[in-house]
Amino acid sequence: MAGARRASIAMTEHSPNVAIIGAGPAGLMAAEILSDAGYAVSLYEAMPSPARKFLMAGKSGLNITNMREGEAFTSRFPSVAPMLKTALGEFGPAAIAEWMRALGVEATIGPTGRVFPVQMKASPLLRAWLARLQSHGVQLHTRHRWAGWSDDFDMIFDTPEGPISVQSDAQIFALGGGSSGQPSETRPGKTVAFKPSPQSSKPERREARIVARVWWVGCLQ
Ligand SMILES: Cc1cc2nc3c(=O)[nH]c(=O)nc-3n(C[C@H](O)[C@H](O)[C@H](O)COP(=O)(O)OP(=O)(O)OC[C@H]3O[C@@H](n4cnc5c(N)ncnc54)[C@H](O)[C@@H]3O)c2cc1C
Repeated sequence: MAGARRASIAMTEHSPNVAIIGAGPAGLMAAEILSDAGYAVSLYEAMPSPARKFLMAGKSGLNITNMREGEAFTSRFPSVAPMLKTALGEFGPAAIAEWMRALGVEATIGPTGRVFPVQMKASPLLRAWLARLQSHGVQLHTRHRWAGWSDDFDMIFDTPEGPISVQSDAQIFALGGGSSGQPSETRPGKTVAFKPSPQSSKPERREARIVARVWWVGCLQ
């Protein structure tokens, strides 16, 4: 994109950098897992602050998971049931309660098995979560709306200072709307860019491949 400033994310040989677009709970969880695994993570969020829908979810009591549901839950999402089964096997209700406890938030179980933070609200959990991500070196860039790809196949973000282009080794899209589909530009496995190099006699392909698209499965959805 003409006129876009270029902000190349610091790259080191030993820590590939990953751009996560969308700082809802899905993006935050992806940031946690990748930063724990030693990746340099930059989170880009369109809004002035992260996880606004998550905070809204907490207004009437954040029902974060359900101790009783299992098959009954996954069967509600037939198209992704096998993936959900694997995910819940690795990070199920008990693990979520433990994860909250590690962030200083105790879980309480309601009569129907629904699990809530004791304060019912999402804000204490979010505050502790963001602090932990920051301590793991995750860089959060708010007011950065992903707007597509540049002519050089970098990511373009609209910011209050104008458009910028950003390079990263991999991109993860966590734009929300898990139940309503996502733009095809963010389909996992899609090659978003390639072009022959004008300097080289050999055609040189520059590619970026969408590695993943993630979303948070709200247990009330
Ligand atoms: C009133 C209400 C109550 C709810 N109650 C519960 C509940 O009790 N329990 C529960 O589990 N769930 C609940 N939910 C659902 C829960 O909020 C969602 O499941 C969850 O927020 C989805 O997380 P996500 O990260 O996939 O998407 P989102 O939370 O939607 O996050 C996506 C992020 O991507 C950003 N984004 C989008 N496009 C761009 C772009 N182009 N560039 C940069 N950033 C972008 C958005 O601004 C947003 O911050 C509730 C929802 C609502 C509205």
